[in-house]
Amino acid sequence: MSDVRQVTIIGSGPAGLTAAIYAARANLEPLVLEGEPSSTSDQPGGQLMLTTDVENFPGFPEGIMGPDLMQNFRAQAARFGAQIETVKASKVDLSERPFKIWVGDSEAPEPTYLSEAVIVSTGAQSLMLGLENESRLMGHGVSTCATCDGFFFRDQEIAVIGGGDSALEEANFLSRFASKVTIVVRRDELRASKIMQDRAHKNEKIEFLWNHIVTDVHGEDKVAGLAIENTKTGETGTLDVTGMFVAIGHRPNTSLFEGQLDVKDNGYIVVEPNSTRTKIEGVFVSGDVQDDYYRQAITAAGSGCMAAIDAERWLESLHDD
Ligand code: NDP
Repeated sequence: MSDVRQVTIIGSGPAGLTAAIYAARANLEPLVLEGEPSSTSDQPGGQLMLTTDVENFPGFPEGIMGPDLMQNFRAQAARFGAQIETVKASKVDLSERPFKIWVGDSEAPEPTYLSEAVIVSTGAQSLMLGLENESRLMGHGVSTCATCDGFFFRDQEIAVIGGGDSALEEANFLSRFASKVTIVVRRDELRASKIMQDRAHKNEKIEFLWNHIVTDVHGEDKVAGLAIENTKTGETGTLDVTGMFVAIGHRPNTSLFEGQLDVKDNGYIVVEPNSTRTKIEGVFVSGDVQDDYYRQAITAAGSGCMAAIDAERWLESLHDD
């Protein structure tokens, strides 16, 4: 077991690494458990590692590739002394301070790390259809973020998958750019709220393809059509589109904290309003794991900054007594 760290940050997307930059520059010598490489957003660098061009992150007028941006974040945190470990936390015990964090064998009697403060920045994942070519063409016509990528689909015909509020919201946004947006719905009704349905039905660029699922994504280097199947008749066909936006929901990465931190009905961690504090003193939460609304790299980075400042001030207050 190591000495007690002042701050340990779990996660290394924009939130975790911004928290690391701020905590390092406040001389807190943060430890960052960045995760281990995988094919999902639950990996070092988070969801931006699965994207190509990022054109809406301020400071990069020409845009920057998602993985390059995250490499910059990481280098900046390391430059100020953040200790970044390429490991995944396997268990945490937040019941008493210092907090205990295990890496590797979660049954080991002794934790791997002890920390006075913990910043949780474990992010969220977009749910995906689970098709091989879907992940291969991610960032090359397959996207999970209309706000981020809609601009690249000017005058093109694209598809949005899903029938909830996210799908309809994405479709409405995308209709500003695309010439036509087809919403592929697996049933013959939507889950979305009435108001979103009305808006989508009124939008002349939006069409619905009911009772269909996507079974494959065509294209070598970029999306060149979708294989579709009618869920009622089994009939198969092709949808001629150059983009596929998957909007079937998100899942925050909270399994480590189950039963320890409060979550909302939709699974996102609860923080105090306008702060990153949780019900446990010394535990702060930033980024997409607590944000079911904005879900942007810049808002995650902003809340990572807030978490570091909240942690720093809380640690400072411990010395007041
Ligand atoms: P939801 O869980 O509400 O909807 C997911 C949709 O995706 C459903 O229509 C579901 O179909 C469909 N789906 C799931 N898996 C598949 C699959 N494998 N293939 C095809 N379709 C699939 O998720 P959302 O992200 O839309 O919304 C989450 C929450 O956020 C909701 O409470 C929503 O109201 C809220 N929200 C609100 C917004 C707003 O008010 N502006 C905007 C966005 C979200 P099925 O119905 O058959 O299960």
